[in-house]
Amino acid sequence: MQTHNLGYPRIGSQRELKKASELYWADKLPLAALLQEGKNIRLHNWQLQQEAGIDLIPCNDFSFYDQVLDTALMTGAIPERYQPLIERKQLNNIDLLFAMARGYQREGYDVTAMEMTKWFDTNYHYIVPEFKADQQFTLYSDKVIREFTEAKENGIAAKPVIIGPVSFLLLGKEKAAGFHRISLLEKLLPVYEEVLGLLQQAGATHVQLDEPCLSLNLGEKERAAFTQAYQQLHQRFPQLHIILASYFECYGENLATVLQLPVQTLHLDLVRCPSQLDDILAAALPATLQLSLGVVDGRNIWKNDFRQSLALITKAADAIGKDRLWMAPSCSLLHVPCDLDLETDEETLQPGIKQWMAYAKQKITEVVTLANLATGKDIEHMERKLQENIRANANRKTSAIIHNPAVKAQVAGITDNDSRRHAIFATRKIKQQEALQLPKFPTTTIGSFPQTKEVRSWRAKLKKQELSQQQYDELIAKETADTIRWQEEVGIDVLVHGEFERNDMVEYFGEQLDGFAFTRNGWVQSYGSRCVKPPVIYGDVSRPAPMTVKWTQYAQSLTPQLVKGMLTGPVTILQWSFVRNDQPRSETCTQIALAIRNEVVDLEKAGIRVIQIDEPAIREGLPLRRENWQEYLEWAVRAFRIAASGVKDETQIHTHMCYSEFNDIIQHIADMDADVITIECSRSQMELLDAFADFKYPNEIGPGVYDIHSPRVPSKTEMVALMKKAQAVIPAEQLWVNPDCGLKTRQWEETRKALVEMVAAAKELRQ
Ligand code: GLN
Ligand code: ZN
Repeated sequence: MQTHNLGYPRIGSQRELKKASELYWADKLPLAALLQEGKNIRLHNWQLQQEAGIDLIPCNDFSFYDQVLDTALMTGAIPERYQPLIERKQLNNIDLLFAMARGYQREGYDVTAMEMTKWFDTNYHYIVPEFKADQQFTLYSDKVIREFTEAKENGIAAKPVIIGPVSFLLLGKEKAAGFHRISLLEKLLPVYEEVLGLLQQAGATHVQLDEPCLSLNLGEKERAAFTQAYQQLHQRFPQLHIILASYFECYGENLATVLQLPVQTLHLDLVRCPSQLDDILAAALPATLQLSLGVVDGRNIWKNDFRQSLALITKAADAIGKDRLWMAPSCSLLHVPCDLDLETDEETLQPGIKQWMAYAKQKITEVVTLANLATGKDIEHMERKLQENIRANANRKTSAIIHNPAVKAQVAGITDNDSRRHAIFATRKIKQQEALQLPKFPTTTIGSFPQTKEVRSWRAKLKKQELSQQQYDELIAKETADTIRWQEEVGIDVLVHGEFERNDMVEYFGEQLDGFAFTRNGWVQSYGSRCVKPPVIYGDVSRPAPMTVKWTQYAQSLTPQLVKGMLTGPVTILQWSFVRNDQPRSETCTQIALAIRNEVVDLEKAGIRVIQIDEPAIREGLPLRRENWQEYLEWAVRAFRIAASGVKDETQIHTHMCYSEFNDIIQHIADMDADVITIECSRSQMELLDAFADFKYPNEIGPGVYDIHSPRVPSKTEMVALMKKAQAVIPAEQLWVNPDCGLKTRQWEETRKALVEMVAAAKELRQ
């Protein structure tokens, strides 16, 4: 039984790559130093895995930006607009890579970046390859070969990891009509052959081809592409050991195709889908096929449950023999932080919780330990590790800091009535009209106002104790008061307090809820140099005290106008955290929903009559396969309704969602039954509204009338024009006027100008 790893985090345990890249982009670090930083990280990662005892260590899992972008560069899939940079500017490959990822605006050039989108159901974002009908591919970057050679020079016989040809095409986008990108396969394969040939020449024996698109619903055409690609590659390189890796789901209906592919090893994500092992062992496996058992969770920060993993391993070993098994993490460790040993601050992460956790470095050791336990190697030492693991998992099962009987009882006691407003929307609408007296086309904003450097510096100073809590509160109060004054002057109908006291829309709530822990070094790459540090939901969630009432009530006390309370919804809090794995996500989500519900009720008691529960992440929580959507949507929508339904009919509940495709989930959006939904719409020229129009969405809608991602100030005329488009498909009495999203990343100057224009637009519409 051998061990391997699918990929190691590349940001460096102290975010060295982030820091070096950002300095390089700011012209404050020479290229050689950036390249050296990359080299250091690679070497460090390889050595660490070697010392841990991993047999087959990955290379080419490193990237200066993104592995899909690397593949585009490898295959020469470089969009036309970068040609001048290559030909006239003679950009080297790394600057070209950054230009494609971030755009290039200097020395008179102005070339836009490529699009970025979410990597399956993770919070990692990849760069979307662009294809044209007459697309040509050539071996453009030999990065993978260089990294293999580099590993070899350091005494490591590495396994190159490459995005497979079919997923590479499927992950991309046609930039012109009239062809499907999968038809480019024949032209693409020669480049993969060239790469494999060079790798083999350089001494590679194993290559991991990642085909994560096998975890999606595919059509016949796509499945046939897999067959064609892998037969062709196998024919050319019968000696090369191909490890085919998909993850985040089982192979599902693609399994029959996958089992026909002439590959030597097939990787299984047994964390996301342990039940697939039975299906696979029951299938007619090719006699020489080896299985890579992904039993260590590459997506979450929990310690493995060795007994559970060993049960799976034993089952597989009994069926096909230990010699045909590989031990692995479920997917690349890109999605977990580097090293738990660096979490030394017991105030941030108490030892009682830390003992249940594992980051990438610890997970590597778990993979090796599991293989040793399964094969009886170093038995005494391993036995001790097993006992330790059993103890940690056992005490997690019963720990008083995780289990809160009161919360469990509350969740068990939720009735249908708790997830339903008293009256139906039509009745609520009338009551709210009476109570709130809003004009037609009411104006509002999405919540946050500019988080200036100054505002952020106050928080930093508070942390460093350079400001007392009282001084900090006074500053926030002044900023809030100024904002209320200013919104009154502009003439906005439903005001907000501005969210100045919040660092982040999830962290702010997590910090005040029981059951959440925070880390000091739990960074994971989100895209490029951007890293996030998700909270850890380790236990039953409850709300010891009100979280937003003080600031909202303060803001409301300053004005006779309506001030909208601002909360983050349960699904979004769940989605942007590391979630406990000892109970279904739906259960954890329901607990968060109850906490938010209590907050909503307290806001109402404090005199707040409009409350927004943001759910920007509801769509991104959708399972990868459609057959699993229904179940998710049911509990996600229910969680929102539980959060929203504790109030009187007169209290108006808003929700907000960022840019997303609404068509296929519009029924569920309607089932959320928010009185008002605001959505990002301006970049799509109101096209996103069609889903609501076709559905005859009954509740109120605020389609965003201007893009908050750019400092550009929109004119009254263009916003009126957009609203007219909206009015053509949605009755006027259902419409609100608001920006696309929160304004925290904007400057005050453009924000003021834009909102003056927006209010003027609403006034014109009313006439
Ligand atoms: N209320 C939040 C804000 O205005 C919403 C942010 C979001 O949709 N991502 O910042
Ligand atoms: Zn938004």
